[in-house]
Amino acid sequence: MMELLDEARKLSMFTAYNANVDTIVYLNGKTIQGLIDEFGAEAVRRRMEEFPRQIEEPIDFVARIVHALKTGKPIEVPLVNEELQGWFDSRFNYDVERIGGQAGIIANLLANLDFRRVIVYTPHLAKRQAEMFVRKPNMFYPVVENGKLVLKHPIEAYRENDPIKVNRIFEFRAGTTFRLGNETITVPYSGRFIVSARFESIRIYTRPELKPFLPEIGLQTDGAILSGYQGIRLCYSDGKDVNYYLREAKKDILLLKREKDLKVHLEFASIQNRELRKKVIYNLFPLIDSVGMDESEIAYVLSALGYPKLAERIFTYNRIEDTVLGGKILIDEMNLEVLQIHTIYYLMYITHADNPLSEKELRMSLELATTLAAARASLGDIKSPRDFETGLGVPYNERGEYVKLRFEEAKRRLRTREYQIVIIPTRLVKNPVSTVGLGDTISTGAFTSYLALLRRKGAL
Ligand code: AMP
Repeated sequence: MMELLDEARKLSMFTAYNANVDTIVYLNGKTIQGLIDEFGAEAVRRRMEEFPRQIEEPIDFVARIVHALKTGKPIEVPLVNEELQGWFDSRFNYDVERIGGQAGIIANLLANLDFRRVIVYTPHLAKRQAEMFVRKPNMFYPVVENGKLVLKHPIEAYRENDPIKVNRIFEFRAGTTFRLGNETITVPYSGRFIVSARFESIRIYTRPELKPFLPEIGLQTDGAILSGYQGIRLCYSDGKDVNYYLREAKKDILLLKREKDLKVHLEFASIQNRELRKKVIYNLFPLIDSVGMDESEIAYVLSALGYPKLAERIFTYNRIEDTVLGGKILIDEMNLEVLQIHTIYYLMYITHADNPLSEKELRMSLELATTLAAARASLGDIKSPRDFETGLGVPYNERGEYVKLRFEEAKRRLRTREYQIVIIPTRLVKNPVSTVGLGDTISTGAFTSYLALLRRKGAL
């Protein structure tokens, strides 16, 4: 498998559009008590009943986080008021700061694995953001100078006045106790509460001056991994809206592919808003070659495509048979070349029968993906290609055999002749150092090794 990784590392990859700064706060009972006392238990309780969907003032945050702590459920709530950032910064000391956003995570992973060349593009690049990209000679950010495309390390390309997206992650532990008026609350499960920045100033697009150079970037790379569309808002105060940004996103993909058949992978993330989710699927999926998502995301996608019953079944029962069926529908309706689904217990590829790779090769690609994720889960981060070996020591999850059995059953029941469908059990780390970015790591490992195998066959 190391050989396959070595082949993948010869590739040059492009990735866009989302990177942010993740700041992490480890919450304790005292901090929470302080917040409740400051705003008054009664006021907090009242706001909890109103259940604000987004954070517009500090008490919205306090209400939602107390609610999350009470139930122990991890949740993400958007912060729309940019001015509140000062409030957060004055109240909390951030214990850890690291890169977030799929494009950011993927760029650092590829660079640390010593891929030939990693070109990362984010429309905004403030200094603090640029500093989070690893300092490796294979890491590049595209800029236009004197009418030419120039590749520089992000730290040499940042723009002083660019906005910065900071997501604030509040990690909480089971057993933490505090009082809300005369009620004593004990946190039932460990988890995290994410305050995600959704500001007007943060957009997902390619700056006009760079746009004409996308075909050249396409020529210089072997594959593209695009993500971040979940950050598009339905409308902005300057009149631009989701339709505008998706039209531009379509143009970007076509421009990347103009000079050669560059393979494009879209890394899908949960999009809560149904309208946006549907638009992303219908606008972009037909233009791309490969999609990666997890089990709940495929359920969301199927529900948007008009299969609510199947979606509901996947949500409720997590049966392999339903996921296979959903996957078949998706690659047929959108005519994808390859669909990759990751779940906690297995990884799956679904392609059409005429895919150049054999089932054995497709399985190898998934093996590489789960090994890479296991390495990251064990170490917290992947800093060099050698770290991959750590993943090889991680055992397959205990449901592995059961998964294979269920899959064989599903294959007998469903029509699968027009497809290649493969599944492998995941290597699962018992006490992961971190679970952030594992899905992105799986998709990166899967897509790049898929490309390497295509190249081995002369199909890339
Ligand atoms: P996502 O839901 O996109 O964040 O992806 C998470 C994926 O990471 C899961 O589907 C698993 O395949 C993988 N994963 C989660 N936890 C672990 C773990 N402890 N060790 C190895 N892989 C994991």
